[in-house]
Amino acid sequence: MTSGPSHRLAGGVSPPTASRAPEAGRLDRAPVPDATVLIRNAQLLDPRTGLDQPGDLLVRDGEIAEIGAPGSLQAPEGAEIVEAEGLHAFPAFVDPHVHLRTPGREDEEDVETGTRAAAAGGYCAILAMPNTDPVVDSAPILRSLRERARAEARIPTGFTASITVGMQGERLTEMAELADAGAAAFTDDGLPVRSAGIMRHALRYQQLAGCVLALHEEDPTLSDGGVMHEGEVSAVLGLAGIPSVSESTMVARDCELAGYEDGRIHVQHVSARRTVEVLERAKAAGVKVTAEASPHHLLLTDNAVRSLDTHFKMNPPLRTEDDRQALIDGLRDGVLDCIATDHAPHSREEKEEPFELAPMGVTGLESAFAAIHTDLVLPGVLDLGLVVERMTAGMEPFGLVVPTLAKGAPANVCLVDLDAVWQVGEAGYESRSANCAFGGRRLTGRVRMTVAAGAVAFRERSFAIEAVR
Ligand SMILES: [Zn+2]
Ligand SMILES: [Zn+2]
Repeated sequence: MTSGPSHRLAGGVSPPTASRAPEAGRLDRAPVPDATVLIRNAQLLDPRTGLDQPGDLLVRDGEIAEIGAPGSLQAPEGAEIVEAEGLHAFPAFVDPHVHLRTPGREDEEDVETGTRAAAAGGYCAILAMPNTDPVVDSAPILRSLRERARAEARIPTGFTASITVGMQGERLTEMAELADAGAAAFTDDGLPVRSAGIMRHALRYQQLAGCVLALHEEDPTLSDGGVMHEGEVSAVLGLAGIPSVSESTMVARDCELAGYEDGRIHVQHVSARRTVEVLERAKAAGVKVTAEASPHHLLLTDNAVRSLDTHFKMNPPLRTEDDRQALIDGLRDGVLDCIATDHAPHSREEKEEPFELAPMGVTGLESAFAAIHTDLVLPGVLDLGLVVERMTAGMEPFGLVVPTLAKGAPANVCLVDLDAVWQVGEAGYESRSANCAFGGRRLTGRVRMTVAAGAVAFRERSFAIEAVR
């Protein structure tokens, strides 16, 4: 078992055969044969390489074997041919923030259904959060999850471990041991690390373990009891509010601590303008901080909560139009580095509770791209290339997969029909849960096929592929 820093920062997928120690990679999936697929005449778009032109792309032996002019590539024997005229081929998306609910709540999601939902959304890799039952706070629990992923995961899946034992915020986990067992990062997501002293120690161990701290930021003494954003709408509804400063003050604290300890942090699900401003200042000062925004915070506001529909209840809460605009600007400017769904499945019964009692969180893997495409790209608010870049950048802060359409790169590709109109949830969900914030919405843009680490992970049923014999 190696444990040098170079190994710790290495990404990649454990091979399907057990030829490599389980600790060698940080992402796992079930064994699948490499696909040979010739995608013909797609619009190839990769903002990272500047590629934006019609062309052919050949997937073989786990790699993008060739990229050529339309009609120029010959199909190898046994290849599947995808006639992709009218479709876009992007580097497949990655999501550093997914709740797979296993162990403990397999009635809501598990590794198989969660990764199936991700593949259907165009994702080629995800990171799972550790706020399960039990919490992923020890190497044996982490190893058993990785074993599950090697049996069930459709796409490469990484598991994060908690920062504190039981996510109690009191004692640090054995971070070095967890890193050696393959933790992709550390996070107490669902809860903040309340104590500044514990956070300071975590920042020191983070550097020894070589894994980033991903932070759910709120000050519990400010958000305590709140169920939605504190503002005009919460006042009208008479609901307890969570103020924006609950988030921004903790982000300010942790940026200060990260700067002081020279640690490396990633701020999860940024929701407020104040937080974007704090991040902008910290980045300008050289603090090693990255940040994510979720589709629901980019597209919805607390106005949606007037309906008391629990599909608009999440933590952090939907905030104001001014906050939403700041998130969009932050994404455009790069203060926010990536888009992450915070896919959080909940059972129907629990989401049918009254608004004050229902659990926080919504699913989003299957609708993320289409929702952003419909509400931000089509109206001209954000450029398509920028959205693709931000949806493929989520693992970069963790030193993991950065998908790209380039010859010799690992084959991570999604094929998308940007003109297809569909209704979210109409044909059900791949996820075991249905608490999607965009359920029932008619969206434009549909993922037709996803290739993840060289294998076909998703193919829309109606999408025919011809095989060469
Ligand atoms: Zn969170
Ligand atoms: Zn979360």
